[in-house]
Amino acid sequence: MRNDTIAAIATAPGNGGISIIRISGPEAENILCRVFKPAGGITQTPFESHRMLYGRLTDGSETIDECMAVLMRAPKSYTREDVAEIHLHGGDFVVRCGLELLLREGARLAEAGEFTRRAFLNGRIDLSQAEAVMDLISAQGEQAHRAAIRQMDGGAASFIRPLSDRLYELQAGLAACIDYPEEISDEEGAGMLRQGLEELIHKLDESIDEHTSRLLHRGLQTAIIGRPNVGKSSLLNALLEEERAIVTSVPGTTRDTIRGEMILNGIRIELTDTAGIRETEDPVERIGVERSESAWKNADLTILVLDGSSKLTKEDSRLLKGLTGNAVIVINKADLPQVLSADDIRDIQPAAKQITISAKKPEMLQPLKDELKRQASVSDQTALTQPRQLDAAKRAAAHLKDALGTVENYTPDMAATDLQAAQEALSEITGDKADEKLLDRIFSQFCVGK
Ligand code: GDP
Repeated sequence: MRNDTIAAIATAPGNGGISIIRISGPEAENILCRVFKPAGGITQTPFESHRMLYGRLTDGSETIDECMAVLMRAPKSYTREDVAEIHLHGGDFVVRCGLELLLREGARLAEAGEFTRRAFLNGRIDLSQAEAVMDLISAQGEQAHRAAIRQMDGGAASFIRPLSDRLYELQAGLAACIDYPEEISDEEGAGMLRQGLEELIHKLDESIDEHTSRLLHRGLQTAIIGRPNVGKSSLLNALLEEERAIVTSVPGTTRDTIRGEMILNGIRIELTDTAGIRETEDPVERIGVERSESAWKNADLTILVLDGSSKLTKEDSRLLKGLTGNAVIVINKADLPQVLSADDIRDIQPAAKQITISAKKPEMLQPLKDELKRQASVSDQTALTQPRQLDAAKRAAAHLKDALGTVENYTPDMAATDLQAAQEALSEITGDKADEKLLDRIFSQFCVGK
């Protein structure tokens, strides 16, 4: 852990009401004293902690800005180090001058995420809480925001720690079985292990909700596909309730992918209107087709649009046949006399969900919106939300399942290795170090004989 003093601009670039420069480390107070002169000539050294003062930021000869400054003495600060904040007028030039002054005074430019990293290394937050800070900043919907707040409150740790404690108990029990085989029979040892493992595997499996994690982090990626002129752009516009895509009746006008975002159920839904996936010799159109194919491949949901007022064309049939994964077939133009029947579609795609709409009539869009809402529903109880946490939880569960496999031919040594690997995977979630704790637990339970 480095214990130098770091500084960085904490607010976004551009002009605004205020910009904040943050300093953290043992020299924070000294640097602040040298560059900040409180109004009224009060020379307050040391600074009163957590009190905002009005004054001037100066390099000794010239005033850089009139500003406010506050010192938050350790450990009552974000990083648990001495932290100073200088609130300047919001403008790129003025904050840059301020930051350069602090660097000249001995601070080092902070690395990406270094304040939060220090908060973690100084034990103020665990790793999942540090990740939640990033999630909160990038949250684009109510659900992602709520999940980030839960994680910042220690949601992941309060789920993982009891599991980890239970696992330590199993490890200690197993160590006792290995060391005192004459006191604990194989059946007893295996029985204890099986019960404990099944319980832990069940809880971990339940917590691995990849659907929720994906929706919280990248929203519902939805590709709108279909041959030209079926109404893809019109549908996108109608859903977004604004004129984002170019809508015309000349086939092939939407040459590239067009994206739009909406929030449903507190989840971001990213809609990509594709250029239409078709054979073409035109190189410009080909680029559009390639982008469409990529949007289709990466989508969580595909909406295939068909024109209900005309018969299926060869291209419609080809797209219908190629439809895989999570898909909905939308029969558009329901306001016109209908030629296409549900059975025509069922002949090719018997199981896919069909929804009839008209992109021209907002009131006829509701069934599709309801379906999108259904697709965007997430559990608001999920303890683990980060893909990294899920990956660690999956590895922990896999090691526990391996351990369960050893129970049949009761081989405690092998089980012990699997339990240790599972414990390490769990400790990755909160960033805890496992070894020291494991020893403590084993010894605290070590009174079986003497
Ligand atoms: P795209 O090529 O699939 O993106 O199709 P567009 O959205 O550009 O629409 C093609 C044509 O169909 C335009 O003239 C639209 O006004 C028309 N259109 C789209 N949706 C509907 C609908 O629900 N009803 C009717 N009557 N016309 C529609």
